[in-house]
Amino acid sequence: MSRPLDTIGALIDNQHNLLAYCISCRHCVKLDLEALAVKLGRDHGSMHKDLVPKLKCSECGSKDIALILSTEETERMHLSG
Ligand SMILES: [Zn+2]
Repeated sequence: MSRPLDTIGALIDNQHNLLAYCISCRHCVKLDLEALAVKLGRDHGSMHKDLVPKLKCSECGSKDIALILSTEETERMHLSG
């Protein structure tokens, strides 16, 4: 059984990261979950519908954004790969 990761606080506690991927220009950034937790609260939802309305691409200004869940482990694999 997987742990619920449906709040910002749960992602932080489980060492998960969220990447925001702009569908329009393919810009990808790692979201600062600690900053989001301060701003929105740790109990704020971490699902697409909860966060995407608050996000905007810093490159092109598009709101057409996908969220990708990642962990330190998968990021290390990407870096060494
Ligand atoms: Zn963009």
